[in-house]
Amino acid sequence: MPLHNAQAFVLRTYKLAEADKICVLMTRQSGKLRGVAYGARKLKSRFGSCLEPFTEISLTYFEKDGRELVSISNAEIVRSHYAQAADSVVAGAAMSYVSDLCCEFLPDHEPSDPVYRLLTATLDAFGEGRDVNALVRYFEVWMLKLAGFYPDLRSCAGCGEPAAPGADVWISADGAPRCASCSSGRSLRATPAIRETIARILAKPPATFAESAPPGDQLDRLSELALLIIRHALERDLKSFALFNRLRRETETPGTHLENFE
Ligand SMILES: [Zn+2]
Repeated sequence: MPLHNAQAFVLRTYKLAEADKICVLMTRQSGKLRGVAYGARKLKSRFGSCLEPFTEISLTYFEKDGRELVSISNAEIVRSHYAQAADSVVAGAAMSYVSDLCCEFLPDHEPSDPVYRLLTATLDAFGEGRDVNALVRYFEVWMLKLAGFYPDLRSCAGCGEPAAPGADVWISADGAPRCASCSSGRSLRATPAIRETIARILAKPPATFAESAPPGDQLDRLSELALLIIRHALERDLKSFALFNRLRRETETPGTHLENFE
């Protein structure tokens, strides 16, 4: 049984049997994998709080021939983002959605240093108290782009003409960008301002982007575009997407602060 060391983010956990846990991990060295931590739910577990979602850990695991699940033998905390997820319902929902995007769009066992760095930088920016909505929209664009689903809005998929600087681009349900004359009319509009925002996301680190985030209506347009791409790629919606957007709107509306119910 080969022994491996890796640095990883805990993306999701599930209960297994009486005292065990299954963890979905994003490792830097081997990409996404699923592992069993035997005894992790016992009161005095040797894993302590290492295996909570959004914790970055230093990990030792075994691979067993023919088994999809690896066996986690040791884990130590590098950095925990769990407290900030538990601290506010909106941040918690944001991080669940980020985690879902990783689970859905990362292939198993394929290392991706860009995604690992993206996750690290985004969670760090959450921790610094940056604008959560701007960070989620940032992560969405990058994750969908790295997974190969984000459309390149610089030219029309129909006629191949480059998008004119002041012109709108129309994105159809299959995620393809088209110019006004090639578009069927039943498409999502990406204005020059939206395209400029996407270009900024692709050029800047998340904290810098969130520091001077665009107005809320522009972030909403990015969210609509992400919804369209996710729906096309997965052929379904992600519950965590809708939950995050709902909680965010509720807390933005005066008089409906969720803190009142805590
Ligand atoms: Zn065209």
